[in-house]
Amino acid sequence: VPELPEAETIGRTLAAHAEGRRIESVEWLSTRVHRGRPPQLAGRTVRRVHRFGKAVLFDLDRGCLLVHLGMTGKLLWRGERGPYTRAVVILDRGEILFDDVRQFGSIRWCERPPAGLGPDPLEIGAHAFVERVQRHKGRIKPLLLNQGFLRGVGNIYADEILFRAMIHPLAPASRLSERRLRRLHKSMTELLEEAIAQGGSSISDYVDATGREGSFQLRHQVYGREGQPCPRCGASICRILVAQRGTHYCPRCQRT
Ligand SMILES: [Zn+2]
Repeated sequence: VPELPEAETIGRTLAAHAEGRRIESVEWLSTRVHRGRPPQLAGRTVRRVHRFGKAVLFDLDRGCLLVHLGMTGKLLWRGERGPYTRAVVILDRGEILFDDVRQFGSIRWCERPPAGLGPDPLEIGAHAFVERVQRHKGRIKPLLLNQGFLRGVGNIYADEILFRAMIHPLAPASRLSERRLRRLHKSMTELLEEAIAQGGSSISDYVDATGREGSFQLRHQVYGREGQPCPRCGASICRILVAQRGTHYCPRCQRT
């Protein structure tokens, strides 16, 4: 499932081709892609393509297009149309395909970016982050996954960030010391930057807009490594369910 680093990578690879281009038409090949009546987009110009949480946002000269990738959504520059192509955005030069095997993704037109989401993890400073966490009751991992708290961290990166910060996924958020929360903030920004530099993680079928896989999955320390030795201490990596999500951690390195 694409998270912030994957949305950022898709946005970057598309921006180079799509920014400044005019939309000639959009072919909606599945009624599930756009809920309700599809918007009139012909003639609009793509100003900017960038990540917005786990989604990819196209700023147009009026309003914006928000692309939720769901489980298997892909945005492909000059890809080949296939059985899973659900929409095609035809530009005055080139076209963007929206492919989605499982159809949990969507494309939505909106006047402005949706409100109600938390700050971007790479934009919030350490001080604001610490204050924000300390205001919350509950466990730390579900908090990181809560898009109203922070937008863009999902299950894979939450596990990796908590391992790097040596914090147990079930640690009560409000009881973590400022020192540990500052380390959590540092781990989060470093890890997300590294993942972006590697083009994201290709776990199932994620690729960027040019069809290239990411390679950060090769650097995962705990995610998907149940029963394998912890790279730091050698203990067996555990898997538990937290907020119904498979959660991986080292029982020796990560404390509550
Ligand atoms: Zn360990």
